[in-house]
This record gives sequence, C-alpha cells and structure tokens, in this order.
Amino acid sequence: MSTTETAQLVDGSGLAARTVEETAARAAEIARRTGTSPCLATALVGEDPASVTYVRMKRARCAKAGIRSRHIALPATTTTAELVGVLKGLSDDPGVHGILLQHPCGPHIDERAAFEAIAPEKDVDGVTMHSFTAMSFSSPGFVSCTPGGIMRLLEAYDVELAGKHAVVVGRSAILGKPAGMLLLAKDATVTYCHSRTVDLPAFVREADVVVAAVGRPRLIRGEDIKPGAVVIDAGYNPGNVGDVDFTTARTRARLITPVPGGVGPMTIAVLLAQTVEAAARQLGVEHS
Ligand code: NAP
Repeated sequence: MSTTETAQLVDGSGLAARTVEETAARAAEIARRTGTSPCLATALVGEDPASVTYVRMKRARCAKAGIRSRHIALPATTTTAELVGVLKGLSDDPGVHGILLQHPCGPHIDERAAFEAIAPEKDVDGVTMHSFTAMSFSSPGFVSCTPGGIMRLLEAYDVELAGKHAVVVGRSAILGKPAGMLLLAKDATVTYCHSRTVDLPAFVREADVVVAAVGRPRLIRGEDIKPGAVVIDAGYNPGNVGDVDFTTARTRARLITPVPGGVGPMTIAVLLAQTVEAAARQLGVEHS
C-alpha cells in the first residue's frame, strides 16, 4: 500500500447501533416468552460527576433497548464490606440478570474484593477473575466490554488475526490486558507494551494490528505505523483525541478507528448485549 492512500475508517457508531438494535429485539423476545424483561443493576459509590454521568448514560441506553435497570446509589462513606454485601445481595436476587459496579469506587474501597462479590453469571461488565479466566481460556463467560467491542469491530471488518502480530499498548485490567487475551484466543501473536517498555515505536513498527489503550493523546505516531496495518484506538482524551495521531496514521494504515465514533460506542453496546445474554441464560431462553 502506498503511503499516500488513506485508510478505511471503522464505523463503530454504525456497528454499535446495529448491535443495540439486535439486542433490543432479543430483549423483547425474552420479555414475550418469559414475561420478564432483562434487568441490569448499577451500583455507584459516591457522587463523582463523571461516574454519575456514565451511569445515567448506561441506564438511558438500557431503557431504549428494553432493558430495565435498577440503580443502587451508595454514599461515599460506604465501606468495602458494605459494598460487598450489596453486590452479593444483587448476585442472589433472581430479578437482576446483570450487575455493573461503576468504577473507580474511591481509594478506601478494595475494588477487587467488590468485583469478586459479583456472581460470574451476572458479570456483564467482565470484571471478575472468573471472567478473566474465561477470556484467557476461551471458555464460556462474559468479556470486558471495551475489549469485547474491539473484537466485534475486527470481526465485522473481516480482519484476519491468526498468525498476525498484534501489539497492545496498555495493560490495564479492564482494557489492555483482556484485549491481548482475546487477540491471543484468535491466534494472533501478541506483544504487550506499557509504561516501562523501552522503545515503544520499535514495537509499533512491527505490528500488523495496533491496539492503543493508554490515555496519552497522540502517543502513537503515524510514522511508526507499518503500511497496511490495522489501527484500533481505544484511547479517549480531552478534546476528543485518541492515543494515535490519527491524521498521519491514516495515511499508512489499511483500516483505522476514528475518535470519536470508533471503539467508544461499542463499549455500551457490548454491555447491553451481555446483559440480555445473561438474562437469556438465567431465564432459559434459547436463541430462536
Ligand atoms: P489506565 O488504567 O490508566 O492504563 C493505561 C495503560 O497505559 C497502563 O498499562 C500504562 O502502563 C500504559 N501507559 C501509560 N503511559 C504509557 C506510555 N508512555 N507508553 C506505553 N504505555 C503507557 O487506562 P485504561 O483505563 O486502560 O484506559 C486507557 C485509555 O482508554 C484511556 O484514554 C481511556 O479513556 C480509554 N478508555 C476508553 C473506553 C471506551 O469505552 N472507549 C473504555 C475504557 C477506557 P503501566 O501499566 O506500566 O502503568
């Protein structure tokens, strides 16, 4: 590919809209067959404005897709033990099919202990150890939503992963690490890069698929993108800027996600899809 061509843009908004449409149809089918609509419980500790907005947005999207939501607003003074108690209660409640603990929960909360109180069959945000194990062993379970969205985008654009070198920049528990595990499960050869990586550009230059999951505006330079590579930018920085220098990267990549409108919209779409799937499994509704 010549470097003067521009890459095909991944339409994440379009795929997310189609995913939500299919999810809504499935939610309606479950309600018709069982008399019960899928239900997502959201829990939030404190009133961090960004977290409040995220939860409100997720619940609004649930409502549009025919998914009920139940919100548990907990005071900032909530202890780990109290939060664990709430999440265990939701895990035992047959009226709740999926559970989302909005995080970060605050420095005084042991977030891992809280996540582990979520029953695996209700872990629609893919945050428990059980879900991580399922992702790394390709066994049935739920995936972390943003990595799950990335995999759906790659599949929708027929990106062949077997034998390809995928370089994942970032290794957070919710994004980079599971993204690499899911790529490995598709037989990609995966390299993780992180803040201690020496000479990041050298790794990026070798990548057939780059997944940027860092949170540093335009850290990945276009000049380091291998001509013809697939570039997935999960980064979302102030001013609608990704982790990849989009303007230059698109002149070398074959396929690239824009920011916004690429990976971002897929995250909520996967959350909704997994909530409905959880309800279907718990209510014993087979695919028709
Ligand atoms: P995070 O927890 O802060 O993790 C950032 C990762 O990037 C860490 O693994 C860190 O390495 C690595 N890193 C930091 N500086 C680096 C550098 N200079 N070179 C190489 N690696 C570096 O962030 P996150 O939650 O994974 O989020 C990453 C980005 O994705 C953010 O922009 C966030 O807004 C976005 N995001 C988007 C969605 C969505 O729905 N689209 C969802 C989640 C996150 P160490 O491990 O060594 O510290």
